[in-house]
Amino acid sequence: MILEQFGWSTVWQNAFLPFEGKGYLPARIVREHRGGYAVITEYGERLAGVSGHFRHNTLERRSFPAVGDWVVLEVPDEVSKCSVREVLPRFSSFVRKAAGTSRDDQVLAANIDTVFLVSGLDHDYNPRRIERYLTLAYESGVDPVILLNKADIAEDLEGAFLETESIAYGVPILAVSATNSLGLEKLWEYLKPGTTGALLGSSGVGKSSLVNALLKSEELKTGPVREHDSHGRHTTTHRQLISLPNNSVLIDTPGMRELQLLGDESTLLSSFSEIVELAGMCRFNDCSHTVEVGCAVQAAIGSGTLDTERYESYLRQLKELKHQKVEQDIRLKLQEKRRWKAIHKSMKHHHKSKR
Ligand code: GDP
Ligand code: ZN
Repeated sequence: MILEQFGWSTVWQNAFLPFEGKGYLPARIVREHRGGYAVITEYGERLAGVSGHFRHNTLERRSFPAVGDWVVLEVPDEVSKCSVREVLPRFSSFVRKAAGTSRDDQVLAANIDTVFLVSGLDHDYNPRRIERYLTLAYESGVDPVILLNKADIAEDLEGAFLETESIAYGVPILAVSATNSLGLEKLWEYLKPGTTGALLGSSGVGKSSLVNALLKSEELKTGPVREHDSHGRHTTTHRQLISLPNNSVLIDTPGMRELQLLGDESTLLSSFSEIVELAGMCRFNDCSHTVEVGCAVQAAIGSGTLDTERYESYLRQLKELKHQKVEQDIRLKLQEKRRWKAIHKSMKHHHKSKR
């Protein structure tokens, strides 16, 4: 049965019981796109919207279907678009929080057992970022596993491993390589049949490569059976929910990718260490280094020990990073706007007073 390849189990069968025998089909959301969803049913992949009944009864955005959800599908006939009537209760979800009330929170992916926090052991490796990802995983009620990818080109694999261990006590850490399939047997142990994993990690760490390596490594063992659907077409690549050959599932959605931290302050800290050091001497802990009394950064600019250009570049990069974070957390948006207005104002003032 196709659905078993996508995580269908007796648990979901029981959840679906109240809808059994009424002409509905159980289905899982495999992709989200503008104005609808792609779902997998026992008859293969179909397109779906939400039913009028669903729309009428659903007030919160977070109750709308997301990749990974199991749903109750109304199927009018062979050719027309199906519609989602109900979303079966989720056991876990990754949520993007919205401004103000939780009413507008958006679920990015649902029913995930394990989240793989992927880092690349090249320039990408950053323990602070791994800490942030761990927080996200715990908030979502999902077990984390840390993947240190690109182990084949790591300069200090053991060092990175030990450092990761020190910030992620008790969390499984696997050194892997998508390129030469190193460590994939270990990874399969966390991809048990019937379970769903999700990939989280910056762009370029090798998430797609890992999916391909997993598809290929099993294909070698089991034969290239499962990469094609009943029509013999290649379907795995464009899905955001991918069925692996051992009946486990991996989710790799753009939404999850947006949750990535595109950069973070710690990278800034290392490239502007003298400013960070100065900042530690400001009178106020929350000093914005613009207008405050007792600001050591402003004092250094005044005395000429800190270069204005360097200070401005710091502010620019800080702004960029904040901007990326703000995109992820809309709640900060207004607050940040006000703050940057003040900074720009003071920078203008600063330039004027220099002339
Ligand atoms: P994604 O953005 O996370 O999906 O990353 P990709 O899978 O597109 O990989 C980004 C780049 O890293 C590509 O050029 C890959 O060939 C390379 N890459 C991925 N995994 C590995 C690995 O294990 N070792 C090495 N050396 N390169 C890798
Ligand atoms: Zn300051």
